[in-house]
Amino acid sequence: MPKSITEMVVNRHGADAARRGHPWIWRQAIVRGADAAPGDEVQIVAEDREPVGRAIADPKSPIAMRVWTLGRAPIDAALVRARLARAFAVRARLFGDGATTAYRLLNGEGDRCPGIVIDRYGDVAIVRTDGDAAAAHLARVAPVVVDALTAIGVCTVVHRSGVKSSPLRELVHGDAPPDTIEVKEHGVPFVVDLAKGQKTGAFLDQRENRRRVGEMARARRVLNLFSYAGGFSLRAALGGATRVTSVDVAANAHATAQASFRLAGVDPSKHGFVTADAFAFLASAKKRGESWDLIVSDPPSFAPSEKSLARALSAYRSLHRACVDVLAPNGIFCASSCSSHVDAERFASTLDDAAIGASLRMIAMHGAPADHPTLPAWPEGRYLKFAVLE
Ligand code: SAH
Repeated sequence: MPKSITEMVVNRHGADAARRGHPWIWRQAIVRGADAAPGDEVQIVAEDREPVGRAIADPKSPIAMRVWTLGRAPIDAALVRARLARAFAVRARLFGDGATTAYRLLNGEGDRCPGIVIDRYGDVAIVRTDGDAAAAHLARVAPVVVDALTAIGVCTVVHRSGVKSSPLRELVHGDAPPDTIEVKEHGVPFVVDLAKGQKTGAFLDQRENRRRVGEMARARRVLNLFSYAGGFSLRAALGGATRVTSVDVAANAHATAQASFRLAGVDPSKHGFVTADAFAFLASAKKRGESWDLIVSDPPSFAPSEKSLARALSAYRSLHRACVDVLAPNGIFCASSCSSHVDAERFASTLDDAAIGASLRMIAMHGAPADHPTLPAWPEGRYLKFAVLE
């Protein structure tokens, strides 16, 4: 062990959680410790002096440490290399047939590489770090990451961080990426806006749910609310929907969606793209007496923190009520949420009879797909809910 490693003493609650496999140590769990810089490797010890594990310190964040190893195992290049290899091996098994070329290669905490997410779009990899500490850590391990990525055929590696002080996008390896790229999901081609898109470009976590929507869409009039780049819409159109109406506040998202429709051989002029607030759209549709046979609702997170939970639950309830108000008899309603503070049970409660009337049954509750693994001890990782009601 390097002599100089900083020790952080954590309380029993923090030590127990880390030993069970929860990757976060909250600031309140730290009993004492010397100053660490963001991104420093630190040794966590319990109050009885027993080693707990090694973590990357993020002293400015409420999540003050992200745990990588147990005991005194160092967070070195060999460890990162091994973790990447295990993560990439799972994806090679999942996507080896080449039908899907956009997927999550590394799911941060869920792949035991806390703070670092890597999404692949064909031969471009977008690395996203969560906070200053993960960005500083990534800077140290970048050669290992680039080696692992180039070995699986990635040519361009871009780092995107949400940190305001550092550039939002930096080229780590290879030629600059194109602004937009064509990829495939289950063989369906679509366009991803790498330059201006949200997240790393696409919401890869909804892939299997998009397929499910495609399978339910035949001969139905489909409404896709919060449609972004039209992932659900395209699958519905290809699945035989009579007409798909996509609603989003972002006009440029519709432009990407229409490019994907054309790429997949679907005429976008046969479908509707409405730039509007979804709540206002639903209210006026109800007034006009319009209805749809399949409705997808996939809003941005309503609960950015535990404190906003009550407000978020009531926002989901009113959104769901407004959707069911325009659902035709025998219609299907797919209600999604990506708020990690709203667990599956609480989300289901926003779809109860008091919220949406006693007409529907919940036939499934799906989550994120296998390229978004989670840890059993880390419920925060199971943020995605996709309820199907019929
Ligand atoms: N369903 C999409 C992802 C949705 S992300 C997919 O599968 O790819 C959430 C989207 O909601 C964003 O595109 C954002 O522009 C849009 N949005 C946010 N607030 C909105 C509102 N009040 N009305 C309509 N769209 C909204």
